[in-house]
Amino acid sequence: MTELGAEEGDRYAVIGHPVAHSLSPLIHEAFARQTDQHIRYERIEAPLNGFVRTVEAFFGAGGRGCNVTVPFKGDASRFVAHLDPEAAFADAVNTILVGPAGGFAGYNTDGPGLVADLRRLLDGPRELSVLLLGAGGAARGVARPLLRALAGRLTIANRTPERADALARRLADAGEPNARAVSFAELSGPFDLVINATSAGLGDRVPAVSASVLEGAFAYDLMYGRETSFCRWALASGARRAEDGLGMLVCQAALAFELWRGVRPETEPVRQALRARLDAGGT
Ligand code: NAP
Repeated sequence: MTELGAEEGDRYAVIGHPVAHSLSPLIHEAFARQTDQHIRYERIEAPLNGFVRTVEAFFGAGGRGCNVTVPFKGDASRFVAHLDPEAAFADAVNTILVGPAGGFAGYNTDGPGLVADLRRLLDGPRELSVLLLGAGGAARGVARPLLRALAGRLTIANRTPERADALARRLADAGEPNARAVSFAELSGPFDLVINATSAGLGDRVPAVSASVLEGAFAYDLMYGRETSFCRWALASGARRAEDGLGMLVCQAALAFELWRGVRPETEPVRQALRARLDAGGT
């Protein structure tokens, strides 16, 4: 990799596998135009066993910061020297920068990004009854911010129930007593908000829970796209509204951009532009 001159803009990237369809370059380039920042943002596909050498090469060649996506968020949390509290809780890092005292610092902006998008969609802060489906990296990242900002009660259900139990215990140990784990079979509503943090939609599937848990609920899918399988199923099952995770994606990116550049971009124009692009069939 070649050292980049300042005239080419500070260099940022998203590292993942696969990464070809990541919208992050479009989002960060739009933020940079909006805030008059001079940056360059690229996608880097790391080999599955090669996250550390890829991220070291990126920073060694002058990279200023990177996002980390599937499947490397756990590797990234072990790679950095300093973890913010959300990243430490989730064991997952989605944003890396060189800290003020040197050494790599890792952050997890997924949870605050989801909360910011839910605040856009829901009327003001409320003590909501929330069902979180999934207990993987994304669920671990969003569970505590949800409890702190919006959820009076959080029910966690996962295909592998032991992982939901472990997340609820971990929340209790971290001073959040209002989370409980329930198996898919025992789940019953009603819930104000049902969040799909599973990756079932990658195979065009939905979690195997009773459709009745969606009745009257606001459904939110962390996946995004023209129409996700979860959003389609939620509306057919009586959800009052269903939203995909595009807004979360843009909001978590804005928080990363602010960590890197010290300026918070406007998310809404970027979200709307991407929505129009996805609805028109673009990727
Ligand atoms: P992960 O760590 O691999 O976890 C996957 C989760 O999905 C696990 O809880 C797994 O359950 C569950 N799962 C997989 N297939 C399932 C199926 N057929 N039925 C029911 N549950 C199933 O993945 P992740 O990082 O948490 O990501 C989850 C989703 O969130 C992905 O689609 C990702 O794209 C999305 N995401 C979106 C944003 C955003 O900004 N919008 C940010 C982060 C993540 P088991 O434990 O039983 O395997």
